[in-house]
Amino acid sequence: MVADSRLGGDAPALVRSASRLWAEKLPPALTDRVAMSRSPMIVRTLPALRRALDGLRAKKAAIALVPTMGALHDGHVSLVRLAKRRAAKVVVSIFVNPAQFAPTEDFSSYPRTWKADVARLAAENVDLIWNPDVKTMYPAGFATKILTEGPATAGLEDRFRPHFFAGVATVVGKLFTQCRPDVALFGEKDFQQLRVVAQMARDLDLGVRVIGAPTVRERDGLAMSSRNVYLSPDERRAAPALYRAMKETAKQLRAGDDLAAAMAGGADLITAAGFALDYFEARHAQTLAPIESVKHGPIRLLVAAKIGNTRLIDNVGV
Ligand code: AMP
Repeated sequence: MVADSRLGGDAPALVRSASRLWAEKLPPALTDRVAMSRSPMIVRTLPALRRALDGLRAKKAAIALVPTMGALHDGHVSLVRLAKRRAAKVVVSIFVNPAQFAPTEDFSSYPRTWKADVARLAAENVDLIWNPDVKTMYPAGFATKILTEGPATAGLEDRFRPHFFAGVATVVGKLFTQCRPDVALFGEKDFQQLRVVAQMARDLDLGVRVIGAPTVRERDGLAMSSRNVYLSPDERRAAPALYRAMKETAKQLRAGDDLAAAMAGGADLITAAGFALDYFEARHAQTLAPIESVKHGPIRLLVAAKIGNTRLIDNVGV
C-alpha cells in the first residue's frame, strides 16, 4: 500500500517530464502531437468510448483489450505488451467490478492507484483507457447475468466464491460488447477465469480471440497480485512457499511419482508454511476436470490458500 501510494504521487510527474524532455528535441509543430501520443485517451462514458473506438478503428486497425481492476503491477503490464504484439491498438479497461465481490469480500478496500496506473499505461503507449463508473456499467434497473457452466463449475474457485464467475462473465461480456476487440488478453494467474472467459466468448459468438498470458512472479516466486499489498512482512516472507510447493509437486509428478502421494506431500508443504488450504488440486489443463494420473494430462496444479486474512491463488503446469 505504502509503495503504491508513493508511486501514485510521483509517477505521473516522471512520465510528464520524460515526454517533455523528448518533445523539446522536436520542432514546435510536432511537440503537441508527440505529447498526445504518449498519453492514452481516458474515457468514462459509453458515447465517448464509441467515438474513441471509431477513431482507433479508422484504418481498420485491430484492437486488443486488456481488462483489469487497476492497481496495476508488472503482470498487468506483461498483458499490455503481449496485446501490442497482437493488435495495432490497445485498450485497457480499469473497473473494480462490484458484481464479482461477495458482501464479505474486499470491494471497498480493494487497492485503487489511479494516478500510478495511468502513468504505467502511458509509459507503455496504451491507446485508450476505458474507466467507467459503477452506474455506467450497472445503471439502475440492471437485471441481467451471464451464467456460465463447464469450467465455471469445476469445483475450484466456484466452490469458495459462488458469486464470482457470474460477476466476471457478466462484466467481461459487457466489456467485450462495449469495446468489440479482436483479441483480449487474460492472465494464466487466474487460470479458471481464463478458461471461463474463453468458453463464454466462444459460446456466445462474441468474435473475440481470448489469449492467455504466463504468470509474472516476484523474484522469490510469489505470483504478482494487486492483493499482495495486504500481506504483513511475515506473511510476505512465507508466501513464496505456495509456488515452491507446487513446483516441487510438479517435479515429482514429472518424475513418475504417485499422483495422490505427490499432492498430499505438496499440501503438507503449503500448510507447514502457515497457509490454510481451500484447495490444492491436479486438474486437466483444458477442461479442468479432476484427473487420476499423469498419463491422462496435460495436468495443471491449482491452489487457493489463506495466509492471515489474505487469500492467494496460483497454479503451474506439470
Ligand atoms: P485483475 O486486475 O486482478 O482483475 O487482473 C487483470 C488481468 O491481469 C487478469 O487477466 C489477470 O489474470 C491478469 N494478471 C493478474 N496477475 C497477473 C500476473 N501475476 N501475471 C500475469 N497476469 C496477471
